[in-house]
Amino acid sequence: MTILLGCIADDFTGATDLANTLVRQGMRTVQFFGPPGGDVTMPEADAVVIALKSRTNPVDQAIDQSLAALRWLQGAGAEQFFFKYCSTFDSTPQGNIGPVADALLDALGEDFTIACPAFPENGRTICHGYLFVGNQLLSESGMQNHPLTPMTDSSLVRVLAAQSSHPVGLVDHRVVSAGPARIGEAFAALREEGKRHAIVDALSEHDLISIGAACAELKLITGGSGVALGLPENFRQADRLNSEMIADQLSAMPGPGAVLSGSCSDATLRQVAAMQKSRPSFQLDPVALAGDGDQAGEALDWALAQLPDGPPLVYASAAADDVRAAQDQLGRTEAGALVEAAMAKIAKGLVDHGVRRLVVAGGETSGAVVQALGVDGIRIGPQIDPGVPWTTTIGQPQLALALKSGNFGVEDFFLKALDCAP
Ligand code: ADP
Repeated sequence: MTILLGCIADDFTGATDLANTLVRQGMRTVQFFGPPGGDVTMPEADAVVIALKSRTNPVDQAIDQSLAALRWLQGAGAEQFFFKYCSTFDSTPQGNIGPVADALLDALGEDFTIACPAFPENGRTICHGYLFVGNQLLSESGMQNHPLTPMTDSSLVRVLAAQSSHPVGLVDHRVVSAGPARIGEAFAALREEGKRHAIVDALSEHDLISIGAACAELKLITGGSGVALGLPENFRQADRLNSEMIADQLSAMPGPGAVLSGSCSDATLRQVAAMQKSRPSFQLDPVALAGDGDQAGEALDWALAQLPDGPPLVYASAAADDVRAAQDQLGRTEAGALVEAAMAKIAKGLVDHGVRRLVVAGGETSGAVVQALGVDGIRIGPQIDPGVPWTTTIGQPQLALALKSGNFGVEDFFLKALDCAP
């Protein structure tokens, strides 16, 4: 099998979001959690997304993991590569977006790429290089309080320049709105000036499709899932992609369902509150998890007892003040790690007792859950809400998974997702 597009994502839900975009544009897409071993059965696919959990790793580790993924994708025949990060550009002052993009460019022998996290369908737009979430600047959107990657500067040119030793340019919206040819000229001009990265403005899907068309010849593209919208068409135009293919079919996965939420993003907090109106819930507390008792074990027993009546909700999601209090007491990393370990244990226990459909909220949380379950990869199915599809596992255990990035999904997302599970 030879794939066309090889993608590397810095977290698990982001990978799924990208895969969802590619499937909706007609590319059969599978996602692996890390480069697959030789024993994994590889389904037919046009694109492969390798999901890493590298967003908040030390820079060197993130680079090594990304380069290993690149090598696997090159081995699978990919012709173009995509480095996917969050539409809110989640990163720390050290990286890892800039350093990973630089390492991938070096490995590919290339000297230019774009950085475009825009996802207008979910309210993420870029104007004059500033990232907006809805009508608020990134740094005023709630993302300034993120537990792991607080974003306190909305200027992507400045944020990326701080992470890369190479110059960063801007393709602003006047150029983008003039269409692919003008965008391509702007890329060439920036490259000429020695700029290695270009932040590209985008306010609409139309802009993203123009940007995608202008990227046909770039070996590496970096951004959110939005900018991948226009890429499948480049392969179709080159007669490399079958337009008749139905890309999002999944086989049925009947069985009990449950919801695990470790995201503290605003949208998730509302989704937790919405589900609590009609279903019972159990709240995990990092301070209690650090204590002598077994709060994770209690939560698992509680959730198993609820299953006959419908899906239970186990959550650690908490408002910014509570998160800060837990972090002050335990340390930021330790608080997050305790919650992730608890979610992993609960997910494993639920699946061991017959749960077949899991909705998981939070990128890091999903990473922890999928690793604990020993899932190698997933096939991408129909979209539930923008950026979040249902998926089914490749190999064992046989599960349906909806992995939701923190800020995605409508208010009743959790029960809505379970209602349309495969
Ligand atoms: P998102 O997709 O919203 O960024 P993530 O799961 O990626 O969500 O990140 C949320 C992080 O916050 C995780 O590491 C999680 O373990 C941690 N976390 C969850 N609840 C709490 C809490 N109550 N206190 C401190 N940290 C928490």
